[in-house]
Amino acid sequence: MKERTSRIRQAVMGWLYPPVCGACDLPLETKRQLEKPFLCESCEDTLVPIGADYCQVCGQGFESKSALPFRCANCGDRELAIDFAVSAYRGSGAGKGLMHRFKYGKQRHLGRLFGVMLDEVWRDERLRGGSWWVVPVPLHPRRLRERGFNQSRELALELIRRAPAETELRLQPLLRRVRQTTRQARLDRRERLTNLADVFAARKKTPAAPDDGARILLVDDVITTGTTVSECAAALRQGLEIGRIAAVSVLRG
Ligand SMILES: [Zn+2]
Ligand SMILES: [Zn+2]
Repeated sequence: MKERTSRIRQAVMGWLYPPVCGACDLPLETKRQLEKPFLCESCEDTLVPIGADYCQVCGQGFESKSALPFRCANCGDRELAIDFAVSAYRGSGAGKGLMHRFKYGKQRHLGRLFGVMLDEVWRDERLRGGSWWVVPVPLHPRRLRERGFNQSRELALELIRRAPAETELRLQPLLRRVRQTTRQARLDRRERLTNLADVFAARKKTPAAPDDGARILLVDDVITTGTTVSECAAALRQGLEIGRIAAVSVLRG
């Protein structure tokens, strides 16, 4: 039944969005489109998964195993309010362009491709099993109106749809963005670290947390320094009994 539903969905999606590569516009065969939606093989070749070697705190990828300290240069001198972050792919190759088209080019259907790319994060055992409340990084209402959708929410829905059987994910949009800010992408590292103070707040009504605290999984499109997800986590910690806060992203900036 599930297979049939996905084929019908596929047919409808194919009608709404011709199956072409989201990065280079090459038309895709049906078989390819079913396996890796909206991505041709040569663009896929440019994508680099973070793989097995990454900082166990902020998720920054390492070039080689020999450079594996417990904390890395990105997060070693900072207190992050998350327990850990895991990203799927490096922000190089076709990844950056695809994400740009998704967010700013109204190509909302690319969320399906990013959903497939997000499968990579389940390599991290700390994420597998048990139940998580999935919290998308919110947009400011004004930006949400401009864009028409919140990319992190789309990614959260895809993550939930494709989660491994032993892991229970439930969407809990517990955060709101109370201040509009300069886009992080336009700032240098130092500016990024201060741009987001007091930007996020927890919603007043939150469901009762389990006895051992809520397990929160923040979802963002790109994690760069980790400041955004850390500020989100800090806002959640103010009003909620927390068991653990992790963050995932499609790309590592
Ligand atoms: Zn392509
Ligand atoms: Zn780190």
